[in-house]
Amino acid sequence: DAGPRAAIEMPEWKKIATGRGELGKKTVLSIKEQRESLPAFRMRKQFLDAVRQYQLMVVVGDTGSGKTTQLTQYLAEDGFANAGIIGCTQPRRVAAMSVAARVADEVGCRVGEEVGYTIRFEDKTSNSTRIKYMTDGIMQREILLDPELSRYSVIMLDEAHERTIATDVLFGLLKKTLKRRPDLKIIITSATLDAEKFSTYFLECPILSIPGRTFPVEIMYSREPESDYLDAALTTVMQIHLTEPPGDILLFLTGKEEIDTSCEILFERMKALGPSVPELMILPIYGALPSEIASRIFEPAPDGTRKVVIATNIAETSITIDGIYFVVDPGFVKQTAYDAKLGMDRLQVTPISQAQAKQRAGRAGRTGPGKCFRLYTEAAFQSEMLPTTIPEIQRQNLANTILMLKAMGVNDLINFDFMDPPPTNTMLTALEELYALSALDEEGLLTRLGRRMADFPMEPALAKSLIMSIDLGCSDEMLSIVAMISAVQTVFHRPKDKQQQADQKKAKFHDPAGDHLTLLNVYQGWKRAGATDPWCFENFIQPKSMRRAEDVRKQLVQILERHKLRILSCGRDTTRVRQALCSGFFRNSARKDPTEGYKTLVEGTPVYLHPSSALFGKAAEHVIYHSLVETTREYMHNVTAIEPKWLVEAAPTFFKVAGKEGGLSKRKRAERIQPLHNRFAGEDDWRLSAQRKGG
Ligand code: ADP
Ligand code: MG
Repeated sequence: DAGPRAAIEMPEWKKIATGRGELGKKTVLSIKEQRESLPAFRMRKQFLDAVRQYQLMVVVGDTGSGKTTQLTQYLAEDGFANAGIIGCTQPRRVAAMSVAARVADEVGCRVGEEVGYTIRFEDKTSNSTRIKYMTDGIMQREILLDPELSRYSVIMLDEAHERTIATDVLFGLLKKTLKRRPDLKIIITSATLDAEKFSTYFLECPILSIPGRTFPVEIMYSREPESDYLDAALTTVMQIHLTEPPGDILLFLTGKEEIDTSCEILFERMKALGPSVPELMILPIYGALPSEIASRIFEPAPDGTRKVVIATNIAETSITIDGIYFVVDPGFVKQTAYDAKLGMDRLQVTPISQAQAKQRAGRAGRTGPGKCFRLYTEAAFQSEMLPTTIPEIQRQNLANTILMLKAMGVNDLINFDFMDPPPTNTMLTALEELYALSALDEEGLLTRLGRRMADFPMEPALAKSLIMSIDLGCSDEMLSIVAMISAVQTVFHRPKDKQQQADQKKAKFHDPAGDHLTLLNVYQGWKRAGATDPWCFENFIQPKSMRRAEDVRKQLVQILERHKLRILSCGRDTTRVRQALCSGFFRNSARKDPTEGYKTLVEGTPVYLHPSSALFGKAAEHVIYHSLVETTREYMHNVTAIEPKWLVEAAPTFFKVAGKEGGLSKRKRAERIQPLHNRFAGEDDWRLSAQRKGG
């Protein structure tokens, strides 16, 4: 049933629209008026006095009160930017970009001048930048290079309530920096009530709270659990549009695919209702959306129309859209969690916490009294949702984080000042992974290779593959592959109405050895053809993605050059590229299952080739993959055929050739690769608190 529900009654919209009172009033304020109307403005003096007086402070305030966009400007206006940059971290890339754009507007400059941002592989700052927004991951990299953060006068750890791993790690690192930099100011901001906890952790520092200006939000629950939350969500949006007074709608969904599909369905449903119904502007927002589209969500809907913003979690706290009166909350979020069975992080759709549900509802009460439609029962809210979200650091793979901490000389992980320490087992798993990658030695200390890996802003496995490709004489090729993987989700363009044509074009790039080399073929083809857009259109490749990949590649080349590492081409001998990939991704290896699909070598979990893989329908016995994507089943993403002996060569501490038992022939035995486990065995493993020995 894709059509609109017959039960929906149509109101006389036009009447409501023209005769609307308070609720629909749209006044245009100047930038100055807007800034001064924000709750933060009333606290401006108190805030600045407190910053001058204390080195550390926590600021709490409802979402939209002006913490992110205003506090940095107050500091700059008050002279704090003279002594150094005012840095502000964001857990999300899109937030860093969009907030920088807004603040640049308010300041009256272009992004990259006085106000700029830095996200991975994209630096929009210059010598004149005084206010710099960045992801918390970037700040983590900067503190690795300069533990004193000498370029900064103030650091604002924004959205601390999100509790990303990078922010949590920065908590601990900045506490150390503070002692060495008595002039450095640190501000922690939070949209929720964790303020006390932050203050306790940050040496009982003062808390400044920005009084809210919120309106009541009426909460509606589903009477029965929804069997199809997506359909329920879209029906609810339509119902609101057709029966409720003016005011924009915010719908929370879990990810890009879901959001894009919903936009299409909603569009079709609206079209089916014909022109007598007022217009509904449908606007998506998620992390991967190009910024020029993303900025459209802030534009007010024209009079007599309504807009619905369909967003991921990003609209929960990171981004504030004015004029929202209705929130539709299906109660789910997509988040990464460590999957012990697969031995890796995996994106999973999970129920939100009660705190998140409250936060989402609150988004409806910023401009006037609002309504929140929860597409779950009140009983589910009470009994099935956790009170608060578990911090990332307690649920994700920590290999990356531990590698960085080790590179900063933090060896004693047990006694590192985490606000909420990660489970010991999670740390042991990460140590084991880094040990298998030869980033750590037997004693848990960083190796030279490990130190080098930490210099590359990417997951350890990818960094290792890139570094090993230098020895294997194929770094030129590996650079292109790593860039293509890191830059974008996909470079292939597959429009709904031309899928077959697109697939045929893509097949021309397919390499018999798999997807990584297919990406290389695309990159090389594009370069040979002069890197032009017409070539991209002709071949169903996204030109923007290619330019971005090229940009990432250039930055990687710079890192290699800085470390005096050579860029060598293997020409046609791409076997070496596959071997280099094995050196990083041996863990993600799978063997063809006699019945169907593949089974991972490490845990024996069933995984599958996606029909879009270059290896689909081929008889590759052993493969490695870059990641797993769960849709209807567990699909391997970016898969390459390998020889099993490469795995043992790549990770002798992780795999061995099967033993003599079982009476297998020598050849058969060479095919049987077994994982070795738990080098870092117990809870009390001394490697967790390894100390650097000697001078
Ligand atoms: P907080 O960080 O406290 O959640 P922000 O500083 O992000 O609040 O937002 C303050 C106000 O600035 C918002 O209520 C919104 O009105 C406005 N705003 C923020 N970003 C934009 C943008 N990109 N375009 C238009 N207005 C924006
Ligand atoms: Mg904010």
